[in-house]
Amino acid sequence: MKITAINVYQVDLPLHEGRYAWADGKYVDVFDSTVVEIETDDGTRGYGEVCPLGPFYLPAYGPGARTGIGELAPHLLGADPTQLSVVNDIMDRALLGHAYVKSPLDMACWDLLGKATGMPVCELLGGRYGERVVLYRAISQSAPETMAVDVATYRDQGYTRFQLKVGGDVADDIQRIGAAREILDRGEVLVADANTGWLLHEAARVVDAVAGLDVYIEQPCRSYEESLSVRRRTRRPFVLDENIDSLAALLRAHRDDAMDVVNLKISKLGGLSRARQLRDLCVSLGVAMTLEDSWGGDIVTAAIAHLAHSTPEDFRFTATDFNSYVTVRNAHGAPRREDGCMRASREPGLGVTLDADVLGEPVARYR
Ligand code: MG
Repeated sequence: MKITAINVYQVDLPLHEGRYAWADGKYVDVFDSTVVEIETDDGTRGYGEVCPLGPFYLPAYGPGARTGIGELAPHLLGADPTQLSVVNDIMDRALLGHAYVKSPLDMACWDLLGKATGMPVCELLGGRYGERVVLYRAISQSAPETMAVDVATYRDQGYTRFQLKVGGDVADDIQRIGAAREILDRGEVLVADANTGWLLHEAARVVDAVAGLDVYIEQPCRSYEESLSVRRRTRRPFVLDENIDSLAALLRAHRDDAMDVVNLKISKLGGLSRARQLRDLCVSLGVAMTLEDSWGGDIVTAAIAHLAHSTPEDFRFTATDFNSYVTVRNAHGAPRREDGCMRASREPGLGVTLDADVLGEPVARYR
């Protein structure tokens, strides 16, 4: 199989809630998503998607993804998309870094490998563990009482795991965590994700104040060193996210005993190939994972479902169904949430087909 063309689409993804807000007053109203379609010489098409969480969350932004794909596309034309390591070598030689740019291309090649072999991506990634993947719901930052109502609302929809967006005013954050925990039953999971938003002294106050509560603390401060310092002051279970963007970062954090759970985002790492590498290592090291991406629509959600469903159940801390947060569906066949869970498709590849009416004409074609 050979890559004969790469088509790039841009699609806006507005939110059912209108706005998604997190630490430091950051928010997004409409997500800028990029979809790639790889055409091959036998007529098979593979699909991928990347959607940064705005331009100020990780070093990634929507137009940057499309510009970077234009840089990589000439190098990929003629390559065999089913040879995933070779494809990633080609991309790494052509463009240093920019993991998020490579992610949708790697994802589309996994889709093609699945179609070429007649196998769902989760089976190619190691096999299907269990019947379903348990999801978490991210609770956008707002007043403590509003967030508690949101937790209750999504709990009624079947979610059992919740990630509160904190990283704001310390007194408010303490109240946010307390109010949400009060609603939840034993066994339901609460994570307070500061998304790098606290300074050391602020994180110290929050973790002290919630010391008696059943809550996970996620990525309190901007740097790894600051977060490690907080980790050493608290007995709450601890999640690292933004700082773990490579194999080297994961190995360092493991050596330092810096986390109990790690958040693996597909595009932060550069695609399903790199996500699988870190996922498999985490299983060997005994570290549970949140399996997700920075954001996305149906194609990203399908990719998350395959990555999560191929991860041993004990190690799946949680995963995300981004397609239920947004009002636009960019593909058919993606998983739909049921009782707070989703399942990876049993169709070959990712199991999705593009919605041509929603995507319109490509913004770029490389052939
Ligand atoms: Mg996080």
